[in-house]
Amino acid sequence: MVHPVIIIGSGPAGHTAAIYAARAALAPVMFEGLMAGGVAAGGQLTTTTDVENFPGFPDGILGPELMDRMRQQSIACGTDIRTETVDRVDMSQRPFAVHVGDAVYHAETLILATGATARRLHVAGEETYWQRGMSACAVCDGALPLFRNKHLLVIGGGDSAVEEAAYLTKFASQVTMIVRKDHLRASQVMQRRAESNDKITIRYNAELHAVRGNEQVLTEADLMGPDGTIETVATSGIFYAIGHEPNTAFLEGQVALHDNGYIQTPHAPSMATSVPGVFACGDVQDFTYRQAISAAGSGCQAALDAERFLNH
Ligand code: FAD
Ligand code: NDP
Repeated sequence: MVHPVIIIGSGPAGHTAAIYAARAALAPVMFEGLMAGGVAAGGQLTTTTDVENFPGFPDGILGPELMDRMRQQSIACGTDIRTETVDRVDMSQRPFAVHVGDAVYHAETLILATGATARRLHVAGEETYWQRGMSACAVCDGALPLFRNKHLLVIGGGDSAVEEAAYLTKFASQVTMIVRKDHLRASQVMQRRAESNDKITIRYNAELHAVRGNEQVLTEADLMGPDGTIETVATSGIFYAIGHEPNTAFLEGQVALHDNGYIQTPHAPSMATSVPGVFACGDVQDFTYRQAISAAGSGCQAALDAERFLNH
C-alpha cells in the first residue's frame, strides 16, 4: 500500500499538517514518535507549563493540554496516528520508504516535522528545578511571575544568549550572562547590544555547575571557574541558550541541510526541500523563530504543498 502522505513528528507543525492533509482527503499517516529524541509525542510543548502566546486561549493553556487537543483534532479529521519512532527513510525513489523497526511503509509525499531539541547541561539539581526556575526559552517563559524583578542567569554567549538576555531585561531586575570562554561568540552587533544594556552583566570564564532551591522554586546556582573554584550566586531563574539540535539524524543526509544541521526549505513560501515530494515544517527547518504558532503555520503550508504536488 502506498500512502499519499506520511507525516513524521507530532509537534504543532506535524499536527497542523495532519489536520490540513486529512481535510484534503489525503488520509495521512503520522508517526508521532515514542520518546523520540527524549521528548514525548506532542513535542517540545509537552515539556512546559503555561503557553500564553498561542492564539485562541486568552487565559493561556498548559503545553501538554494544547498538544493533546491538537492530537484529538488530527484524529477527528481522519489522521491515522502511530506511536512509533521512524528509524530511517529512503528517499532515493518514489514512493518513499519509511522504516519503523522491521516494518516498511511507503508514501508518495513526506512531511518532515521532527522538531529540534534545546541543549541542556543536566547539572546537579536540574531535573528538580526544570520549569521551576529553569527553562530553555526566554520568550516562552520569561514573563512568568516567578521571574519578575529577580536576578536571572542566561547560560551561553551566542546570539541567542544575547537575545534572550535582552528580552529578559524587560522583566528581571538584573540579568547575568554566564559565558564559558573569555569572549562571546555572538556577532559584533549583538555584543554591543549586551554591553550597552545596563541590566546585563557578562560573567566570562564561568560554567554552571549545580542548582539548588526550596520546595517550590530555584534560589541559587553554583558557578565553576577555570581553576575549579565554586562560587554560589543567588538567582531565581536560569535560561539555557546553548543551542538547539535539529532532529535530522534519521535522514542520513538524504535531504539538503544547512551547515547547522537544519533542513533547507529554500523556495519560500513553499516548504519544499531538496527532494521533490518531501516537505519540511516547524523547528526542524526553522532556527530563527522557533515558536509553536510559526511551526503550526509552516505545517499548514507543508500540507497544502503536498496536496498540490500530488495534484500535479
Ligand atoms: P516539536 O515540538 O519539536 O515536535 C517534534 C516531535 O517529533 C517530537 O514529539 C519528537 O518526539 C518527534 N520526533 C522526532 N524525531 C522523530 C522520529 N524520527 N520519528 C517520529 N517522531 C519523531 N513556543 C511558543 O510559541 N510558546 C511557548 O510558550 C513555548 N514554550 C516552550 C517551552 C519550552 C520548554 C520549549 C523547549 C519550547 C517552547 N516553545 C514555545 C517552542 C515550541 O515548543 C516549538 O517552537 C514547537 O514545539 C516546534 O514545533 P515542531 O512541531 O516543529 O516540533
Ligand atoms: P551558537 O552555537 O552560536 O552559540 C552557542 C553558545 O552556547 C556559545 O556561546 C557556546 O559557547 C555556548 N555553549 C555551547 N555549549 C555549551 C556548554 N556545554 N556549556 C556552556 N556554554 C555552551 O548558538 P545560538 O543558538 O546562539 O545561535 C545559533 C544560530 O542562530 C547562529 O548562527 C546565530 O548567529 C543565529 N542567531 C541569530 C540571531 C540574530 O542575529 N538576532 C539571534 C539568535 C540566533 P562557545 O562559544 O564556547 O562554544
